[in-house]
Amino acid sequence: NCLRVLQEIVPEASYKTWFEPIVPVRMQGSVLTIQVPSEFFYEWLEENFVHALRKALDYAIGRDGQLEYSIVVDQGNAQNRPIAVNMPTTKNPQSSKPDNVSPDILRSPFQLKDLDSLTLDSYLNPSYTFDNYVEGDCNRLARNAGHAVASRPGLTSFNPLMIYGGVGLGKTHLVQAIGNFVKNNNQDKFVLYVTSEKFTNQFLNAIKSDSLRDFNQFYMQVDVLVIDDVQFLQKKEKTQDIFFHIFNHLHQSGKQIIMTSDRPPTALGGLDDRLLSRFKWGLTTDLQTPDLETRIAIIQKKLVAEGVYIDDSVIEYLAHSINTNVRELEGVVVSLMAQASLNRRDIDLELAKMTLRNIVVNDEKEITIDTVQEMVADFYNVTIADLKSKSRKREVVHPRQVAMYLAKEMTELSLKSIGYHFGGRDHSTVIHAIQLVNDLIKEKAEIREEIAKLKGYFK
Ligand code: ADP
Ligand code: MG
Repeated sequence: NCLRVLQEIVPEASYKTWFEPIVPVRMQGSVLTIQVPSEFFYEWLEENFVHALRKALDYAIGRDGQLEYSIVVDQGNAQNRPIAVNMPTTKNPQSSKPDNVSPDILRSPFQLKDLDSLTLDSYLNPSYTFDNYVEGDCNRLARNAGHAVASRPGLTSFNPLMIYGGVGLGKTHLVQAIGNFVKNNNQDKFVLYVTSEKFTNQFLNAIKSDSLRDFNQFYMQVDVLVIDDVQFLQKKEKTQDIFFHIFNHLHQSGKQIIMTSDRPPTALGGLDDRLLSRFKWGLTTDLQTPDLETRIAIIQKKLVAEGVYIDDSVIEYLAHSINTNVRELEGVVVSLMAQASLNRRDIDLELAKMTLRNIVVNDEKEITIDTVQEMVADFYNVTIADLKSKSRKREVVHPRQVAMYLAKEMTELSLKSIGYHFGGRDHSTVIHAIQLVNDLIKEKAEIREEIAKLKGYFK
């Protein structure tokens, strides 16, 4: 009876793979015991079909219907049975022992939630979409290729699509957006998001529990495979072998593969050449550090999403001050909002500066432009306001130029952003200042010492 229900609500291919092999063992009260071929099998059922199973039990047995698994193992393997991962399990002490069935029986307490979502789980985070992915020069090609793939998975020449870039630049967001887009527009397509780390662990577990076939079979039915952070596969030869195998199968069947990596494929040492050459079949493209306009747009989008208003001058200050990656940018915006609500005050420039300082203090390596300005002002006995002012007085001009020079040396800020922090000067003024200081360093020993001393304060 359960199977009849399942047959109706589970896609046919999945039903064949995952439900036909199930053997009913016994029915005791409201507890149904079923025999499954392997531990891996059990885990996939629990991870992917929990809602469908609940529905079937409700229908065939009633609300108090419960399921117990009994797993087929070799005699010698019986004690080796791995513990199930995501569900609390209990052993059934009074179980009788059918031949070749493990004496331990796993009981699954199903959770009654989301009964109508009956499809295979994609492990996608629905909050990552194209709508909230800000497009800019830094990501345009990757984003557009991603959108093309999402609209026609497996049918473009971008197969595989490989997106690489440093940490926090939006790789996971983008590939999840592709997955969500496909899933929302094609109910029948099985999209799967998996990190390379998880893939590796699943593979190792499958070996341990002797269920490689199930593992393979599961991956072969995927229509769109998103595999995140493939650099993790470096030097893992066995895992690469199986990935290669799955990759080829999917690619030949016209299925879409999407990968990310924190470095370009050419820099993926310890990756099999066969795999690397497969990447060339499709498109490899990178994400770069966001430019100023994109940073501003990302902050604005984040604020709109949170329903918070901040003055443009504050947004500009933040965008000019954080240029490492989007994750950090978001982190600062979030703690700024937290600070504002904690202290019951509006987000203004002063609060932004304070928050930024506190955040950066935790990261010892990072030197902010505020610190540079403070140090320099202190050293030459002028004020920060002097450094930002339009004053042409000699005793201010030199410190200002040194501060710009050090800002360039000690921070990652662009010339444009440095100019912004010095009273809105343009980037050519900054270049000029840096050149002057460079010349002075070459010509004058005392300036050389002065700068060396200043730099020493930052260590
Ligand atoms: P990665 O996987 O490259 O380390 P993530 O995708 O996890 O980076 O991105 C880090 C954070 O920055 C996430 O919260 C993500 O939503 C956000 N983010 C990155 N790029 C963008 C973008 N272009 N628009 C909006 N948010 C972005
Ligand atoms: Mg990521």
